[in-house]
Amino acid sequence: MQADHFDQQKLLALAAEDVALAQLAHRRRTLPENAAVSAAEEAQREFAADVVRAETEVRDLDREQKRIEADVESVRARSARDQQRLDSGAATPKEMTSLQQEMASLARRQGDLEDQVLEIMERREAADATLATAQAGLAGARADQAAAEQARDAALAEIAEGEQEHGAKRAEVAGTVSSPLLAVYERVATQTGSTGAAALHARRCEGCRIELYGTELAAARNADPHTVLRCENCNRILVRTAESGL
Ligand SMILES: [Zn+2]
Repeated sequence: MQADHFDQQKLLALAAEDVALAQLAHRRRTLPENAAVSAAEEAQREFAADVVRAETEVRDLDREQKRIEADVESVRARSARDQQRLDSGAATPKEMTSLQQEMASLARRQGDLEDQVLEIMERREAADATLATAQAGLAGARADQAAAEQARDAALAEIAEGEQEHGAKRAEVAGTVSSPLLAVYERVATQTGSTGAAALHARRCEGCRIELYGTELAAARNADPHTVLRCENCNRILVRTAESGL
């Protein structure tokens, strides 16, 4: 294939824009800010589960405390009734003995129940502390996510700006290259997934870093400047420059 030597030079500018665009696409795919957003989301899920667990425990303890306090109330009421009966003087000696035994048993029962209430209050304090820690963690993770999202959006905006800039330059250069040469470039760029042309620099293809030797080198040396050379290794258009080392 033949193409104007100067048109071939333009392919290097085109390749430079493609490299820049590929770097931006890579940066978009591997943004560290994305990982930070995911980490904050994961932390939020964990803290939210901790909050639910702690709230459930607090609710359960409150319910248990109310239940025991109701038991204490009924024990007190029963004991008060017994006391009233004793004070009335209407009870028989046998009934009085039985009432006194019952009151002693009620007093032990009340003491046990009050100990249980104290124990629940201690557990409630610990549960409150756990809940506060989980809530603070959740708030922190939410703030982290907001900050990471903001940083990610800023990075994405910067990438989009770069893509627009390099895309415009690429279109400008492509518009000045003859269409058959451009078609070859585009086809090879699709094949390599990056660029369709590379400089021949110090006898080395800058695309795949393979050095030319033997017949390929001789062919490059003897080729007319308007002949389009191709790298036998990566298939890219080899663009000769003053530094080609031929
Ligand atoms: Zn090559």
